[in-house]
Amino acid sequence: MQDSTRSFGANRTPSPRRGEPEQLLLEGMPEKLFVCTPSKLGAYEDCPRRYRFGYVDRPAPPKGPAWAHNSLGASVHTALRSWFTLEPAKRRPEALATLLRATWVSEGYRDDEQERAAFRAALEWLERYLDGLDPVAEPVGVERVVGVKTASLALSGRVDRIDRRGDELVIVDYKTGRTGLGADDARGSQALALYAIAAERVFRRRCQRVELHHLPSDSVAAHEHSAQSLERHLSRAEATARDIVAAERAVAGGADPDAAFPARPGVLCGWCDYRRVCPAGEAPAREPWAGVLRDAARAGEDPRVT
Ligand code: SF4
Repeated sequence: MQDSTRSFGANRTPSPRRGEPEQLLLEGMPEKLFVCTPSKLGAYEDCPRRYRFGYVDRPAPPKGPAWAHNSLGASVHTALRSWFTLEPAKRRPEALATLLRATWVSEGYRDDEQERAAFRAALEWLERYLDGLDPVAEPVGVERVVGVKTASLALSGRVDRIDRRGDELVIVDYKTGRTGLGADDARGSQALALYAIAAERVFRRRCQRVELHHLPSDSVAAHEHSAQSLERHLSRAEATARDIVAAERAVAGGADPDAAFPARPGVLCGWCDYRRVCPAGEAPAREPWAGVLRDAARAGEDPRVT
């Protein structure tokens, strides 16, 4: 899934500059909704310092170089989107190489040889994956932006695919990176749960099933949410938003930004865009190409990819 920074039904609110209050609250005035995507919330939950670098500090600190695994993931996602823009009669395997090549992202690879290997692998994944799909089946949405407002949140994001199965909708999220995705990954994904809630509100149709489609292993990890489990994910999102707003207000009020947004160093530091500028980082920065293909297996860790 690729989060969108475009909001649904609400304009994106720029992060406040340091020293500026996020908003002026007057008695009786309803609090402004916190505009966010699941990735924005996830950034804070993973590491508040990383959130600060990405959404609060202005000018933002420079990010590290592009990641090859993100390039690979983006290329596959775009090819899948392009596939569904074809007329059903043209959705044939021989179209795939052209689609993939047309929007291939080259950044981050170690060399041409690694990039060519990634292209070949991506093409194989796509051929195998799409061979299992009905070419005339039309999803309800492809890279569809959905959103929902609650009492405190204006949440939005772009869903890889929304299928209709019977009377219900299903959230489909493509994965191209780590192996070993299971039902727990689908159950625990806050992003998928929030998209299910938003899709149900947008399309006015029940949506409780979420699926991770892992192309490299041609496997699907699925979870059927209940109304209660979706509500729990939404409550967690609202609690995270409250923490973020409190931290931003503290900084606006003069608090030490490092204290308001504490670093949470760990194994993910090696994959963090801000590792090179973050003195609190724990693991050394990975090479930009470390997360693709066999390199990832050798590294023994799983980069987070779309
Ligand atoms: S390097 Fe680690 S501690 Fe620093 S911002 Fe990134 S994830 Fe947080």
